Amino acid sequence: MSKATPIYDITPFTLLDYPDKTACIIWFAGCNMRCGYCYNPDIVLGKGEIFIAEALQFLRNRKGLLDGVVMSGGECTLHPSLIDLALEVKALGMKVKIDTNGSRPEVLKKLYKNDTLDYVALDFKATAEKFQSITKSNLFTPFEQSLSFLVEHKVPFEVRTTVHSAQLKAEDILSMRNYLVQRAYRGNYYLQHFTNNSEILEVMSDSNITEFDKEFSSPEVKVQMRKTI
Ligand code: SF4
Repeated sequence: MSKATPIYDITPFTLLDYPDKTACIIWFAGCNMRCGYCYNPDIVLGKGEIFIAEALQFLRNRKGLLDGVVMSGGECTLHPSLIDLALEVKALGMKVKIDTNGSRPEVLKKLYKNDTLDYVALDFKATAEKFQSITKSNLFTPFEQSLSFLVEHKVPFEVRTTVHSAQLKAEDILSMRNYLVQRAYRGNYYLQHFTNNSEILEVMSDSNITEFDKEFSSPEVKVQMRKTI
Protein backbone atom coordinates (compact mmCIF):
# COMPACT_ATOMS: atom_id res chain seq x y z
CA MET A 1 0.00 0.00 0.00
CA SER A 2 1.05 3.57 -0.56
CA LYS A 3 2.08 5.00 2.76
CA ALA A 4 3.04 8.28 1.13
CA THR A 5 -0.28 9.29 -0.41
CA PRO A 6 -2.72 10.54 2.20
CA ILE A 7 -6.46 10.28 2.00
CA TYR A 8 -8.59 13.22 3.07
CA ASP A 9 -10.89 12.34 5.95
CA ILE A 10 -13.35 9.81 7.36
CA THR A 11 -17.03 10.28 8.20
CA PRO A 12 -17.52 7.64 10.89
CA PHE A 13 -21.17 6.78 10.29
CA THR A 14 -23.87 7.27 7.65
CA LEU A 15 -27.21 5.65 6.95
CA LEU A 16 -27.74 7.65 3.77
CA ASP A 17 -24.87 6.96 1.43
CA TYR A 18 -24.94 3.18 1.05
CA PRO A 19 -28.46 1.87 0.34
CA ASP A 20 -29.75 -0.24 3.25
CA LYS A 21 -26.36 -0.34 4.97
CA THR A 22 -24.72 1.29 7.95
CA ALA A 23 -21.46 2.61 6.62
CA CYS A 24 -18.61 5.01 7.04
CA ILE A 25 -17.29 7.25 4.28
CA ILE A 26 -13.64 7.50 3.39
CA TRP A 27 -12.95 10.72 1.48
CA PHE A 28 -10.07 10.71 -0.98
CA ALA A 29 -8.37 13.97 -1.88
CA GLY A 30 -7.98 15.03 -5.50
CA CYS A 31 -10.06 14.80 -8.64
CA ASN A 32 -9.45 14.75 -12.37
CA MET A 33 -12.54 16.87 -13.08
CA ARG A 34 -13.43 20.42 -12.06
CA CYS A 35 -17.22 20.64 -11.99
CA GLY A 36 -18.16 24.20 -11.04
CA TYR A 37 -20.98 23.02 -8.76
CA CYS A 38 -18.70 20.67 -6.80
CA TYR A 39 -19.65 20.72 -3.12
CA ASN A 40 -16.26 19.42 -2.00
CA PRO A 41 -13.67 21.99 -3.11
CA ASP A 42 -11.48 21.32 -0.07
CA ILE A 43 -11.35 17.63 -0.93
CA VAL A 44 -10.84 18.18 -4.66
CA LEU A 45 -8.07 20.74 -4.18
CA GLY A 46 -6.69 19.44 -0.88
CA LYS A 47 -3.97 16.96 -0.12
CA GLY A 48 -5.39 15.16 2.89
CA GLU A 49 -3.80 14.46 6.23
CA ILE A 50 -4.94 10.97 7.18
CA PHE A 51 -2.92 8.02 6.00
CA ILE A 52 -4.11 4.58 4.98
CA ALA A 53 -2.79 3.03 8.18
CA GLU A 54 -5.09 5.25 10.24
CA ALA A 55 -8.05 4.41 8.03
CA LEU A 56 -7.32 0.71 8.45
CA GLN A 57 -7.11 1.01 12.21
CA PHE A 58 -10.39 2.92 12.20
CA LEU A 59 -12.01 0.09 10.23
CA ARG A 60 -10.53 -2.67 12.37
CA ASN A 61 -11.98 -0.97 15.44
CA ARG A 62 -15.43 -1.13 13.84
CA LYS A 63 -15.38 -4.72 12.65
CA GLY A 64 -18.85 -6.13 13.15
CA LEU A 65 -20.35 -2.68 13.67
CA LEU A 66 -20.40 -1.36 10.11
CA ASP A 67 -21.96 -3.11 7.12
CA GLY A 68 -19.98 -1.23 4.55
CA VAL A 69 -17.49 1.42 3.52
CA VAL A 70 -18.18 4.16 0.99
CA MET A 71 -15.09 5.21 -0.96
CA SER A 72 -15.77 8.76 -2.04
CA GLY A 73 -14.05 12.03 -2.76
CA GLY A 74 -12.80 13.72 -4.86
CA GLU A 75 -12.26 10.76 -7.12
CA CYS A 76 -11.35 7.70 -5.08
CA THR A 77 -10.19 5.66 -8.08
CA LEU A 78 -7.16 7.93 -8.45
CA HIS A 79 -5.68 6.77 -5.15
CA PRO A 80 -2.86 4.20 -5.51
CA SER A 81 -4.02 2.19 -2.48
CA LEU A 82 -7.73 1.96 -3.25
CA ILE A 83 -7.69 -1.67 -4.32
CA ASP A 84 -5.53 -2.82 -1.41
CA LEU A 85 -7.76 -0.92 0.99
CA ALA A 86 -10.87 -2.47 -0.57
CA LEU A 87 -9.34 -5.93 -0.08
CA GLU A 88 -8.78 -5.13 3.60
CA VAL A 89 -12.37 -3.91 3.93
CA LYS A 90 -13.65 -7.19 2.50
CA ALA A 91 -11.39 -9.18 4.78
CA LEU A 92 -13.05 -7.38 7.71
CA GLY A 93 -16.44 -8.61 6.46
CA MET A 94 -17.64 -5.24 5.17
CA LYS A 95 -18.95 -4.32 1.75
CA VAL A 96 -17.41 -1.75 -0.59
CA LYS A 97 -19.30 1.02 -2.32
CA ILE A 98 -17.45 3.15 -4.85
CA ASP A 99 -18.56 6.71 -5.65
CA THR A 100 -16.99 7.59 -8.99
CA ASN A 101 -17.13 9.95 -11.92
CA GLY A 102 -16.42 6.94 -14.14
CA SER A 103 -13.12 8.22 -15.45
CA ARG A 104 -11.05 5.18 -14.43
CA PRO A 105 -12.71 2.05 -15.86
CA GLU A 106 -9.48 0.13 -15.46
CA VAL A 107 -9.69 0.57 -11.68
CA LEU A 108 -13.33 -0.56 -11.63
CA LYS A 109 -12.25 -3.65 -13.58
CA LYS A 110 -9.52 -4.44 -11.03
CA LEU A 111 -11.90 -3.95 -8.12
CA TYR A 112 -14.37 -6.30 -9.81
CA LYS A 113 -11.69 -8.89 -10.54
CA ASN A 114 -10.73 -8.83 -6.85
CA ASP A 115 -14.35 -9.25 -5.77
CA THR A 116 -14.25 -5.84 -4.10
CA LEU A 117 -16.98 -4.04 -6.04
CA ASP A 118 -20.25 -4.50 -4.18
CA TYR A 119 -22.03 -1.33 -5.22
CA VAL A 120 -21.26 1.71 -7.37
CA ALA A 121 -22.73 5.20 -7.62
CA LEU A 122 -21.74 6.39 -11.08
CA ASP A 123 -21.88 10.09 -11.91
CA PHE A 124 -23.25 10.83 -15.36
CA LYS A 125 -22.10 14.40 -15.71
CA ALA A 126 -23.56 15.45 -19.03
CA THR A 127 -24.23 14.62 -22.63
CA ALA A 128 -21.14 14.05 -24.77
CA GLU A 129 -21.60 17.54 -26.20
CA LYS A 130 -21.66 19.27 -22.80
CA PHE A 131 -19.28 16.98 -20.92
CA GLN A 132 -16.15 19.07 -21.37
CA SER A 133 -17.74 22.39 -20.48
CA ILE A 134 -19.31 20.98 -17.30
CA THR A 135 -16.40 18.84 -16.07
CA LYS A 136 -13.45 20.75 -17.60
CA SER A 137 -12.17 17.37 -18.72
CA ASN A 138 -12.03 15.12 -21.78
CA LEU A 139 -13.14 12.04 -19.91
CA PHE A 140 -16.42 11.16 -21.59
CA THR A 141 -14.97 8.10 -23.36
CA PRO A 142 -13.70 6.48 -20.14
CA PHE A 143 -17.04 7.27 -18.54
CA GLU A 144 -18.73 5.34 -21.36
CA GLN A 145 -16.36 2.45 -20.81
CA SER A 146 -17.16 2.39 -17.09
CA LEU A 147 -20.89 2.38 -17.77
CA SER A 148 -20.57 -0.45 -20.29
CA PHE A 149 -18.40 -2.50 -17.95
CA LEU A 150 -20.83 -2.18 -15.04
CA VAL A 151 -23.80 -3.09 -17.24
CA GLU A 152 -22.08 -6.04 -18.92
CA HIS A 153 -20.85 -7.49 -15.63
CA LYS A 154 -24.12 -6.92 -13.82
CA VAL A 155 -22.49 -4.95 -11.01
CA PRO A 156 -25.17 -3.44 -8.74
CA PHE A 157 -25.07 0.29 -9.38
CA GLU A 158 -27.00 3.52 -9.66
CA VAL A 159 -26.51 6.45 -12.00
CA ARG A 160 -26.79 10.03 -10.84
CA THR A 161 -26.52 13.52 -12.27
CA THR A 162 -26.19 16.84 -10.49
CA VAL A 163 -28.44 19.23 -12.37
CA HIS A 164 -28.14 23.00 -12.65
CA SER A 165 -30.60 24.77 -14.92
CA ALA A 166 -27.83 26.96 -16.35
CA GLN A 167 -25.97 23.86 -17.53
CA LEU A 168 -28.50 21.16 -18.31
CA LYS A 169 -31.99 21.51 -19.75
CA ALA A 170 -34.91 19.13 -19.70
CA GLU A 171 -34.04 17.99 -23.23
CA ASP A 172 -30.52 17.10 -22.03
CA ILE A 173 -31.98 14.92 -19.27
CA LEU A 174 -34.22 13.18 -21.79
CA SER A 175 -31.24 12.68 -24.06
CA MET A 176 -29.18 11.27 -21.17
CA ARG A 177 -31.98 8.93 -20.14
CA ASN A 178 -32.27 7.72 -23.73
CA TYR A 179 -28.54 7.19 -23.82
CA LEU A 180 -28.78 5.02 -20.69
CA VAL A 181 -31.58 2.99 -22.26
CA GLN A 182 -29.53 2.50 -25.43
CA ARG A 183 -26.56 1.42 -23.32
CA ALA A 184 -28.77 -1.26 -21.71
CA TYR A 185 -28.80 0.35 -18.27
CA ARG A 186 -31.85 -0.71 -16.27
CA GLY A 187 -32.59 0.75 -12.89
CA ASN A 188 -32.70 4.05 -11.04
CA TYR A 189 -31.36 7.29 -12.45
CA TYR A 190 -31.14 9.99 -9.78
CA LEU A 191 -31.17 13.71 -10.49
CA GLN A 192 -29.61 15.75 -7.68
CA HIS A 193 -30.69 19.35 -7.85
CA PHE A 194 -27.93 21.88 -7.22
CA THR A 195 -28.56 24.00 -4.14
CA ASN A 196 -26.49 27.13 -3.72
CA ASN A 197 -25.99 26.88 0.02
CA SER A 198 -22.36 25.95 0.55
CA GLU A 199 -18.93 26.62 -0.80
CA ILE A 200 -18.43 25.24 -4.29
CA LEU A 201 -15.62 25.21 -6.83
CA GLU A 202 -16.93 28.15 -8.86
CA VAL A 203 -19.28 31.03 -8.29
CA MET A 204 -22.61 29.93 -9.74
CA SER A 205 -26.08 31.39 -9.93
CA ASP A 206 -29.04 29.69 -8.29
CA SER A 207 -30.62 26.88 -10.28
CA ASN A 208 -34.28 26.79 -11.24
CA ILE A 209 -35.69 23.44 -10.18
CA THR A 210 -38.86 23.91 -12.25
CA GLU A 211 -36.72 23.14 -15.33
CA PHE A 212 -36.60 19.56 -14.06
CA ASP A 213 -40.12 19.28 -12.65
CA LYS A 214 -41.15 16.81 -15.33
CA GLU A 215 -41.56 13.09 -15.78
CA PHE A 216 -38.38 11.74 -17.35
CA SER A 217 -38.82 8.04 -16.60
CA SER A 218 -39.14 5.37 -19.25
CA PRO A 219 -40.16 1.72 -18.75
CA GLU A 220 -36.46 0.82 -18.56
CA VAL A 221 -35.04 3.65 -16.48
CA LYS A 222 -36.75 5.22 -13.49
CA VAL A 223 -35.74 8.87 -13.08
CA GLN A 224 -36.08 10.29 -9.58
CA MET A 225 -35.26 13.72 -8.19
CA ARG A 226 -33.14 13.90 -5.06
CA LYS A 227 -33.54 17.40 -3.70
CA THR A 228 -30.31 17.36 -1.73
CA ILE A 229 -27.10 15.38 -1.78
S1 SF4 B 1 -18.30 16.99 -8.48
FE1 SF4 B 1 -17.18 15.04 -8.33
S2 SF4 B 1 -16.17 14.83 -10.33
FE2 SF4 B 1 -16.77 16.96 -10.14
S3 SF4 B 1 -14.97 18.03 -9.30
FE3 SF4 B 1 -16.28 17.44 -7.56
S4 SF4 B 1 -15.52 15.46 -6.89
FE4 SF4 B 1 -14.69 15.81 -8.95
